[in-house]
Amino acid sequence: MAKRLLSSSSLNYCRTLLKSLQVTDTGRLVQCKRFLNLHEYQSKQLMLDNNITVQKFRVVENADEAKNALKGNAFTCNEYVIKAQVLAGGRGKGHFKQSGMKSGVQLTKDKEKASELASKMLNDYLITAQTTADGVLVKKVMIAEALDIKKELYVAILLDRSAGGPVVVASPEGGVNIEDVAKTNPEAIFKFVIPFDNGDLDVVLAQEIAEKAFGFKDSALIAKAAKELCNLYKLFLRIDATQIEINPFGVTPDDQIVCFDAKIQFDENAEFRQKWITSIEKENIESADPRELLAKEYNLNFVPMDGSIGCLVNGAGLAMATMDIIHHYGGSPANFLDVGGGVNQTGVENAFRLITQDPKVKAILVNIFGGIVNCEIVARGLIAAINLVNVPLVVRLEGTNQESARELLKTIPSIITADDLDDAAKKVVRMASTVK
Ligand code: GDP
Ligand code: MG
Repeated sequence: MAKRLLSSSSLNYCRTLLKSLQVTDTGRLVQCKRFLNLHEYQSKQLMLDNNITVQKFRVVENADEAKNALKGNAFTCNEYVIKAQVLAGGRGKGHFKQSGMKSGVQLTKDKEKASELASKMLNDYLITAQTTADGVLVKKVMIAEALDIKKELYVAILLDRSAGGPVVVASPEGGVNIEDVAKTNPEAIFKFVIPFDNGDLDVVLAQEIAEKAFGFKDSALIAKAAKELCNLYKLFLRIDATQIEINPFGVTPDDQIVCFDAKIQFDENAEFRQKWITSIEKENIESADPRELLAKEYNLNFVPMDGSIGCLVNGAGLAMATMDIIHHYGGSPANFLDVGGGVNQTGVENAFRLITQDPKVKAILVNIFGGIVNCEIVARGLIAAINLVNVPLVVRLEGTNQESARELLKTIPSIITADDLDDAAKKVVRMASTVK
């Protein structure tokens, strides 16, 4: 089992937990239960307000706004970078579903082309390594002043469990291939523990990071990078962030240090003193998958995926094991609904409401390992929701009150029961492949 939990399909599952478990570019998992991730433009506005160097930018939502943003001389630049604003990383290496256009980050020197590119991105779906095959709808586009980049670096400030506090992760090998660097050349990724006393990042430590991790020798460049790092850390503390990731953290040909991209997440427990988070959350909720919103309302955790088997499970660990065994027998999940530990009958009914809304679902697997969860309650929920189910339903209930739960399920002949997870996976994969 331990081996299974580390398989690549499990890791893919982790990656799709975009709303609940954010994966940073270096593959770290950061817990973030709600919509407390910022779009790049929101992060950059915060950074601008906190003396951090970012390019000037505009945000547009439709073709007219794109044209107007570039009209006259108000926003004239030598070159523009046009960037799809979605809550997923890897945009540069992504592509658009409808137009087929490559890359959610485009460069052009031509003003007209800039507004055309922005319009082309809007209302299309951007597919990246961190989205499902359906991609994410682009509702906003950033048009920014492009700058030449002499060197792409990587820097992130994160809360680190092993360090028991904040760390700086930094690398001289930033850019779109940072994930490969993390895998193939981990020595190029440096970690610095920040002594946590609620105070600023010590400028001497910041200079050490610039020298050791970025390889800077020039004292003026070291000083500039250190100042930027100190300001990023100030922001990290000020907004109760759990993560600020800048990739690339770039050096321009005239030795300016600029944050070319930004990903910021917050600690939701700090919302009581970060009231402004609520308004950002409202703004971002409109770009979320409607099923995820409904799941949030029902207090369930929904993860959309690309396959054909709807899965109802309790707990993320069981979800990963379920994912692996479905793959093992040649199937693939359409979604995961994690009903958690304290699920009741209504929770199970609501979970079915969500799973059955997905037209990709050809069969459903209920895999519950009852501990705190009472199998009998789950069985009652299944029976109450059975009218919603129009595809084969395979159920494996094991643990607390499993006998009475199984007796209850016998009253519904259409439910296919399974002896154990192996049996359940085999059955559901067979069912999903026979249903057209
Ligand atoms: P991501 O792919 O979602 O991480 O989006 P980024 O904002 O990091 O952009 C992807 C890549 O586009 C970066 O790694 C850079 O190589 C490139 N890029 C982004 N902004 C600029 C810019 O202003 N100038 C140049 N020359 N390249 C840029
Ligand atoms: Mg980036």
